[in-house]
Amino acid sequence: MNSGWRLENSYRRLPPVLFEERAPVPVKAPTLLLWNDAVAARLGLGEVAVDVLAGNALPPGSEPIAQAYAGHQFGHPNMLGDGRQVLLGEQIAPDGVRFDMALKGSGRTRYSRSGDGRAALGPMLREYVISEAMRALGVPTTLSLAVVGTGEAVLREDIGPGGILVRVAASHVRVGTFQFAAAQEDPAVLVALADHIMARHFPALAAGDYVGLVREVVARQAWLIAEWMRVGFVHGVMNTDNMALSGETIDYGPCAFLEAYGRDIVFSSIDHGGRYAFGAQPSIALWNLTRFAETLLALPGVAIDDLKAVLEGFPAVFEGHWLAAMRGKLGLTGADDGDAALVAEVLDWLETSAQDHTNFFRALADGLAADADVDAPWAARWRARTGPESVDLIRRTAPAVIPRNHLVDAALRAGEGGDLEPMRALLDALALPYAEKPENAGFRMPASPEQAITRTFC
Ligand code: AMP
Ligand code: MG
Ligand code: MG
Repeated sequence: MNSGWRLENSYRRLPPVLFEERAPVPVKAPTLLLWNDAVAARLGLGEVAVDVLAGNALPPGSEPIAQAYAGHQFGHPNMLGDGRQVLLGEQIAPDGVRFDMALKGSGRTRYSRSGDGRAALGPMLREYVISEAMRALGVPTTLSLAVVGTGEAVLREDIGPGGILVRVAASHVRVGTFQFAAAQEDPAVLVALADHIMARHFPALAAGDYVGLVREVVARQAWLIAEWMRVGFVHGVMNTDNMALSGETIDYGPCAFLEAYGRDIVFSSIDHGGRYAFGAQPSIALWNLTRFAETLLALPGVAIDDLKAVLEGFPAVFEGHWLAAMRGKLGLTGADDGDAALVAEVLDWLETSAQDHTNFFRALADGLAADADVDAPWAARWRARTGPESVDLIRRTAPAVIPRNHLVDAALRAGEGGDLEPMRALLDALALPYAEKPENAGFRMPASPEQAITRTFC
């Protein structure tokens, strides 16, 4: 049977210090738990044997590796690398687009340090459902092709079932990959990596235009973070190894979506200082991008003043995307000089009024459609900026359905216990996040105080 594999291994042609040749470690009793037809179709893949999804057998053409990288974790530099992921190769989709095919939770590698190389099933189910939500919301993201149960137990805080996620990405090259390459003190490594990523993601750049590379990466991150802020996503671990040069959201750990709105909101149990709080994400992105730019200083033709100018442009580019997104969510058509102040006032009000961040904007659309009054100090000025298209504009840009933390948690718990129905139902509701389907009403309800989940774990 031809399952549609068309793998290349271009990363393996880079300097060997950037990876370890490493096959996945077989698991005891693989079972297919979730399979993504839409992602399979995008990749040109038909049915894939569960043994391949689990790493017990390799797909044709695979030359598996674990990638090396470094990273600032909560501000502190570390040498890391894929400690529990193997890259099988790059699938060339029917339209010629290249996708990394990786197994997350596939066993120990050179970079595992004290880890077991495995993943607990719950977090792999979480990555699957959140990445699916992001895809449907239109936010750039790595994709999830499948989740496999390993039939093996993993020891975390408790003993639980193990899982493997088949992760699909435009690439897995991170800011931390460049930090690793720069730390080799061999410019040839850095040049090879930079040229690889330019050819792969930014083919319009002239050869050797490394300042241009920074400009493009900055532009994609500005867009990505504005998208996170639009949908209320808190990544939770914005370490430099968790920022992909492709501009995709990568590495779903203790991430969560806002219920009530608040700039200081943190879910991750390990983020004690609020370094990665919701409202801190734009400035942290710039901090990470500055670490990226620094790695390129050693390259020919890279002047520090040019890099500075590019980085200094980030806030304005981000603000531009963000204001456009917020105009959409408030139904403001066109652009007015007072919009930024109006948006700020609405958000300040929202922060103190403890309303649901997602439902608030949809309620504005409902109110407009019903010609109902809004009781807020900014209501008259807001109303004056709306028009006939405002209702549709809000409903196109402000999601109705997000993966609410308590529902995600319940679906994960059921999934760990072998019942994937809650997960399938949640995935179904998240598939059309801008639609208001009556059957999804239960998925749109904020958590009650008893249900609310304020802490998430990796
Ligand atoms: P993360 O916090 O998910 O970005 O992971 C940080 C680093 O720890 C990455 O290099 C991972 O590959 C590695 N890592 C996480 N969990 C494990 C594990 N169970 N075994 C080995 N390495 C791990
Ligand atoms: Mg990571
Ligand atoms: Mg992680």
